Amino acid sequence: MTETHKLIIAGEETDAASGETFESIDPSSGQPFATVAKAGADDVRRAAEAARRAFDEGPWPRMKGSERARVLMDVASRIKEHGKQLAETEAQDSGGTIRKGRFADVGMAISTFRTYAKYAAEDRDEEPLERTPISSNWVRREPIGVCAAISPWNFPLQMAAWKIAPAIAAGNSVLLKPPVEAPLSSLMLGRLCAEAGVPEGVVSVLPGRGTEAGEAMVASPLVDKVAFTGSTEVGRRIMEVAAGTIKKVTLELGGKSPAIVLDDADPAYAVEGVLWGIFFHQGQVCSAGTRLLLPSSIHDDFVARLVERAERITVGPALDMASDIGPLISQKQLDTVSGYVDVGGEEGAEVATGGQRVAVDGHEGGFYYSPTILLGTNDMRIAQEEIFGPVLTVIPYEDEEEAVRLANDSMYGLAATVWSGDNGRAVGVADRLRTGTVWINDHHMINPRYPFGGYKQSGIGREHGRQGFDEYRETKHIHVDLAGQERDKHPWWDQLLPRE
Ligand code: NAD
Repeated sequence: MTETHKLIIAGEETDAASGETFESIDPSSGQPFATVAKAGADDVRRAAEAARRAFDEGPWPRMKGSERARVLMDVASRIKEHGKQLAETEAQDSGGTIRKGRFADVGMAISTFRTYAKYAAEDRDEEPLERTPISSNWVRREPIGVCAAISPWNFPLQMAAWKIAPAIAAGNSVLLKPPVEAPLSSLMLGRLCAEAGVPEGVVSVLPGRGTEAGEAMVASPLVDKVAFTGSTEVGRRIMEVAAGTIKKVTLELGGKSPAIVLDDADPAYAVEGVLWGIFFHQGQVCSAGTRLLLPSSIHDDFVARLVERAERITVGPALDMASDIGPLISQKQLDTVSGYVDVGGEEGAEVATGGQRVAVDGHEGGFYYSPTILLGTNDMRIAQEEIFGPVLTVIPYEDEEEAVRLANDSMYGLAATVWSGDNGRAVGVADRLRTGTVWINDHHMINPRYPFGGYKQSGIGREHGRQGFDEYRETKHIHVDLAGQERDKHPWWDQLLPRE
């Protein structure tokens, strides 16, 4: 018997209007383990109407920021209290390891809610009054309205928190559409929001197909903004559909992030960092360091160290604390990844290690793939297209100039890393990279206080930080006339329409 889960609409748990459901598959075993109500266009309409009412008539956008902050802090406490269950659910549903679930997903969800509680409490939604003899003027930040949040399967809990926290901190209502591949932690978060006192209609959670529930949200005239995280291809489609109602759109899309090792890097440290950068969560990370740029002078020695260490990575079921990396999300993703390794071979790349499916005892149906290192060049498809799996392409370079040129030779611009023994030199390289984030001697250190997002086709807008808060707020300028009839304020009016 599998557990069953319902949609969350207008504060209630409910079946889909169509009665349809889908099965959630455990990627570690390939077996279904939960049945989930499948939202369609009718459910989206009902949730959007409730969200509209909550925004137009309800208390949430009218509360003081400090009052909303108290509720967000309560959500953060509840995530902490239910952290074990959330981490286990995320691991079973998405195939991310339990270590990732406990230390990355739950921790980030808590700190994201706390950070936006802080921003809401600071009540900095009004810029200081400017007063002149003629007028007083001020600028106000207000919530946008109803926000559709559409999230991917690789970090469902974090992505839900990254979107819900700033949106509701600012006073908006949210319709969250989690991915069908891994919807359960988002439903749990929706329930925790309700328990913490987020009013009815402010947060609805609607797992369903992107082309049905997702597109219905993006097209809905009741929705004011779309916050999307996913592939660049679907991001393009979101922009097209959102254009019909000129919605505000923020997009967090794909990446092909370079890891640049400089010739003065500590090799032992850089090897660990590069492997963490690519193989964390099986490489299914938008900011994964998928292209390793290595100086030719240290190439062979560095690759030998990488291979030796990569072959000691433990691939295993997500719920096993001993697993360094877990399965890929699905058979489809497994086929995509092995297809790209074949493409690499056809293009002339050499397999330094990996390149095959892994059988894990007792979990024969799971979607496991070996940590793979390919030796190639930057013009190959494996270096230009997002594989979204545990596949690193190593690319040699001659000097810093060439490293920067190769790093920037990509349609993506999400993130980059620089590995060096000299921070000043590394910052000099960082300055020349066209990416939204550069980590120096580190990787994947996303912090809710600092903005994250992409240059080029990696996205539009930013999540996190005050920039991320402003993506959920409109800007209003208020002008109050102080001059009255005392001054002739509109001389041009008389010139255009002279009086008799
Ligand atoms: P995806 O684009 O296939 O799907 C993302 C979400 O969009 C899912 O919920 C899906 O159901 C929905 N969707 C699909 N078609 C839609 C449509 N026509 N209208 C509305 N919604 C639609 O991405 P994925 O495979 O779930 O996730 C992997 C991708 O996400 C990778 O490209 C990765 O780089 C990207 N990603 C980016 C970031 C970032 O912050 N930049 C973070 C995580 C993942």
